[in-house]
Amino acid sequence: MLVVQKFGGTSVGDLERIQNVANRVSETKKAGHDVVVVVSAMSGETNKLVGYAEHFSSNPARAEMDMLLSSGERVTASLLSIALQEMGYSAVAMTGRKAGIVTDMHHTKARIEEINPKAMKDAIKEGKIVVVAGFQGVNEDGDITTLGRGGSDLSAVAIAGAIKADLCEIYTDVSGIYTTDPRIEPKARKLDKISYEEMLELASLGAKVLQNRSVELAKKLNVNLVTRTSFSNEEGTLITKEENIMEKPLVSGIALDRGQARISLIGVSDRPGVASEIFNKLAEAEVNVDMIIQNRAHAGMTNIDFTVPKGDLIDAKSVVADFLKDGDLEDDVYNENICKVSVVGVGMKSHAGVAAKAFSTMAENNININMISTSEIKVSMVIDERYAELAVRSLHEAYELDK
Ligand code: ADP
Ligand code: ASP
Ligand code: MG
Repeated sequence: MLVVQKFGGTSVGDLERIQNVANRVSETKKAGHDVVVVVSAMSGETNKLVGYAEHFSSNPARAEMDMLLSSGERVTASLLSIALQEMGYSAVAMTGRKAGIVTDMHHTKARIEEINPKAMKDAIKEGKIVVVAGFQGVNEDGDITTLGRGGSDLSAVAIAGAIKADLCEIYTDVSGIYTTDPRIEPKARKLDKISYEEMLELASLGAKVLQNRSVELAKKLNVNLVTRTSFSNEEGTLITKEENIMEKPLVSGIALDRGQARISLIGVSDRPGVASEIFNKLAEAEVNVDMIIQNRAHAGMTNIDFTVPKGDLIDAKSVVADFLKDGDLEDDVYNENICKVSVVGVGMKSHAGVAAKAFSTMAENNININMISTSEIKVSMVIDERYAELAVRSLHEAYELDK
């Protein structure tokens, strides 16, 4: 078998843990499999580097950020390769560039355009264990890019697709995908299997256990994806096609996203084309807009509220400032003390009343809902950040996810 094994920040969090990873990889190799390992930076390292940059600037150049942030993964890849060599294995550490990961030009959230896996394949043929620094690639100008926070998951899935691996294992600090974040609700249950669709929703709605783009790509390339823990031999969760899952629960999980902010545009001129101008400008600035609400117009004016990731706030504010200057808008208000809770499940497609239950659960707990959005398989609500954990736990109970 050809296996990709990705180890997240906690799994390589210190030297002892890197040795633990080397032992685990060696077990796989001894069992007769070929292995490509993808590593994250040591836990906390990427945030530490961001902090260093923020010491000098509140809005550092993105190309410089990429050069800085990609260094954390190079440390762990080299150390793991050295540890494996010391155990008598033939191992080679590769940067994203050496692994052939080519991205577009969007620094700090680059998309992978192609992978030229020749160096990896040659090394595998020579019997080597390949250790790739995750989270990074190179653009056509030869500059280092990074793949967005949590992007080592994407590196692993993309590599698994490119070398046609039989399995892609994501090792993390929890033993699989749970009905909600087990750190918020200890009664959360581990799922044996989950569909790509549901996992994609959970990941996009804040369950950072897998980066959302990695799930999207795994679905597209049909990668066999398993999430499990590096601290024991416990079985993990298989992420697979919906048709491989027999039992389809109404609701599979609850996700929480604390990373969103709400922008309220007040006194927007009520004329055709306004929304298009604002949201096109935001898109050009690469601001990722999520929920949007426009109120009924009054006296030629309307209000538009929307949410963006906190990391996109600076860019969003500068777009809004231009509209304020042009007089298309009276006022802008920003609120970072919000969060988004979501109920996800493919079973919703064929059942009524799932959304109603979410709303009544909020009401019973006296939690005010600010914004709502729904799709075939999810219901999302924006609420005050103070109620984040209460909301998650009460929804978990309301849908009987602990049973
Ligand atoms: P890594 O550093 O290994 O990439 P992350 O911190 O990115 O790990 O992701 C693992 C974390 O995701 C867990 O510690 C857990 O708190 C969180 N998490 C959020 N939602 C879920 C969920 N539904 N199932 C499991 N873990 C979840
Ligand atoms: N080290 C990067 C981050 O913290 C990438 C990753 O861990 O997947 O976002
Ligand atoms: Mg992660």
